[in-house]
Amino acid sequence: MGEETFPFGCGKFLTKSSDLLRFWTKVELKNVDSCWEWQGARFGPGYGQIMIGRPLLAHRVAYLDIVGPIPGRRTIRLECGNRLCCNPAHMVVAHNGHVR
Ligand SMILES: [Zn+2]
Repeated sequence: MGEETFPFGCGKFLTKSSDLLRFWTKVELKNVDSCWEWQGARFGPGYGQIMIGRPLLAHRVAYLDIVGPIPGRRTIRLECGNRLCCNPAHMVVAHNGHVR
């Protein structure tokens, strides 16, 4: 157990509501069954990315804000397969660091 609860440093940086507001304005919010697609910058393999002090993966920011802390160094898997999706209802916490 260390301080690295959040592999991408989300915990430290997600303290300002203005940052979260900026984040959610770049997400196309729909009903809970639909994908909420990230409209902002892209990260290499096709994931959404936002700069909040440092680059953070968009879907992880969404998960942290709505669901809560991500345990350990676990990967958040997007069950819908849409890498730009920011709908926490489509996310599950993977059991290890395996990334598809
Ligand atoms: Zn989705």
